[in-house]
Amino acid sequence: LVQLYVPLNFMGFIYREIKQSVTDLEALFNLLRQDAEIADRPGAQPLRVPAGAIRFENVDFAYDPERPILKNVSFEVRPGRKIAIVGPTGAGKSTISRLLFRFYDVSAGRVTIDGQDIRDVTQTSLRAAIGMVPQDTVLFNETIRYNIRYGRWDATEDEVARAAELAQIDGFIRSLPDGYDTEVGERGLKLSGGEKQRIAIARTILKGPPILILDEATSALDSATEKDIQDALGRVAEGRTTLVIAHRLSTIVDADEILVLEAGRVVERGSHAELLAKGGAYAGLWLRQSEAERARETLARAGED
Ligand code: ADP
Repeated sequence: LVQLYVPLNFMGFIYREIKQSVTDLEALFNLLRQDAEIADRPGAQPLRVPAGAIRFENVDFAYDPERPILKNVSFEVRPGRKIAIVGPTGAGKSTISRLLFRFYDVSAGRVTIDGQDIRDVTQTSLRAAIGMVPQDTVLFNETIRYNIRYGRWDATEDEVARAAELAQIDGFIRSLPDGYDTEVGERGLKLSGGEKQRIAIARTILKGPPILILDEATSALDSATEKDIQDALGRVAEGRTTLVIAHRLSTIVDADEILVLEAGRVVERGSHAELLAKGGAYAGLWLRQSEAERARETLARAGED
């Protein structure tokens, strides 16, 4: 029994570790689908996404029953619109994206997409409908073409190049001696964080999911790269229902709704203008970030002189 227990326990550990880093690891999840925690219901139907409306209805969630994480979280994202979630580290922002992928089931309430409870649909169809651009993209030790085509295996050469153009990485790829055949990853070419992220964006453009989760990088990239990436992300998000986990408030000024999450509760909600006018937690965050931004610019200018 002990012999059996150890490897099973170890697999559980690995599975949890992977779940923790919600990335574009759908392939792995499909391999590990035997996992007992989340299973398709008998007779589960494929998710239908005619519009792409997301609803969280009074969602409670705890990883460990002793410690509630999300408390009565409700929101709605209308088809093709954008919601942003902000709040301190540990508030539960990533947990919300994990629940949307159904890596875990809610403890109370429900999550629906176009009216279907995500517990009633097949996991494969659910995960096929959601694209994620993670904070830290993990690339395969393969060619750049492979890494982009991972978004959709039947994509043509032209579609791969078009996705790379939209993600503003095509020029860079073409400047490499081996172009799209360049091997990347541990044994190949080392790419910067911004380059990796643009490859992830190209992959997501190719996948073309109706629902998108953008998990903004916490670490600041240089501002030119940052702007390119924001432009590319803006293009991917066009016409898709988008949930942004935001760290820099300047990128979510145009969100339809912003949720401020603190210790698992929505403490404020509204548009950027409404929240600023309110003068609460969001307005405070905005003021601090704007000041930090101005200080950085002043420093950068001083450096140029
Ligand atoms: P955020 O994205 O806002 O930084 P998270 O959603 O990652 O926050 O985490 C919310 C809380 O849940 C944190 O207190 C974190 O420690 C806890 N947590 C996250 N993942 C797990 C897990 N797999 N098991 C137990 N607790 C977890």
